[in-house]
Amino acid sequence: MILEGIEALKSFLEEPRNIVIVGHRNPDGDAMGSALALKHYLDKKGHKATVVVPNEYPKFLHWLPGSKTTYRFDWQNSQSQRAINTSEIIFLLDFNALHRVGSDMQKTLEKYPNDFAMIDHHQQPDAVKYMYSDVTICSTSQMVYQFIEMNNDLELIDADIATCLYTGIMTDTGSFRFRSTTSTTHRIIASLIDKGAENDKIHNNVYDANSYNRLLLLGQALSNLQILPTYNTAYITLSSEEKKRFDFQKGDTEGVVNYALSLKGIIFAAIFIEDSEQGIIKISFRSKGGFSVNQFSRNHFNGGGHDNAAGGKSCISMGETVTEFVSLLPKYQKELEESYED
Ligand code: 5GP
Ligand code: MN
Repeated sequence: MILEGIEALKSFLEEPRNIVIVGHRNPDGDAMGSALALKHYLDKKGHKATVVVPNEYPKFLHWLPGSKTTYRFDWQNSQSQRAINTSEIIFLLDFNALHRVGSDMQKTLEKYPNDFAMIDHHQQPDAVKYMYSDVTICSTSQMVYQFIEMNNDLELIDADIATCLYTGIMTDTGSFRFRSTTSTTHRIIASLIDKGAENDKIHNNVYDANSYNRLLLLGQALSNLQILPTYNTAYITLSSEEKKRFDFQKGDTEGVVNYALSLKGIIFAAIFIEDSEQGIIKISFRSKGGFSVNQFSRNHFNGGGHDNAAGGKSCISMGETVTEFVSLLPKYQKELEESYED
């Protein structure tokens, strides 16, 4: 864990401040949940906090309390710039390096004259003035809870804050099943339910909000699944044409990679998704046990993340990307054989 300047941050926040909270590009449940929870908490403390996200986030998160008050940097650029220019501090939530917001927003943040405060659970964070980093914690949302606790403010957690934090913890732990889920996580979740998080509604809003096309896209993804038993590996591809055929919407491919990992004996899974707008193949990697997909992605696909969940990208075609991926596996065969025992 790295805790830097937290006492100084507490003193800085003793006066009412204009604050911006930023999540990573393609915000997920943890980025949105942690950012909105922190906004509600800081507002309650007498500050004026605004959440600015780089781009669109999935519809299954639009119901989150406070969601309508957020600005999208790509779409509400002047409002976002104004919020950033008038802020006295920026909180960076759920990401470890400025490039994770995308190049346009990165340029704006690089010119920011005031200080940054980072709350994040990804490895190898950039240096900023105020830092709370812990790669052992399942989610940034759990860290925001612990940040509120550090400030002796747990009694300020109301139903809105509890709902946002519950959502972030739930989505980043695969509904409390990943290894990063601890007894502390469950204790925090219990207290969030006591404070008004309606767990059944949250699960329903996030996981039972599928469109028919999303299920058809999942069907396509599953029929594209390839298994490489020698390497305990499975991967899925989705082309632009397939996305278009099933009216792809942001968030539709969220979680699909986990189907590959759900196969018995598979400990390394990948999904390759063509993004013709950006001209890249976006990749998600997942693993079980000691095989670090963070390292694999850093080494080969310009990415990173966590040991068991990471992302990356490739600028060559889908076919070439998959060929490259498969050609890398022999080098890791021993690791892939030894990394997990059930
Ligand atoms: P996902 O596969 O769900 O997009 O991302 C899995 C994890 O890896 C998340 O924690 C996400 O923040 C991180 N991640 C995804 N893509 C990238 C990337 O291109 N670079 C880095 N450093 N991390 C990524
Ligand atoms: Mn996260």
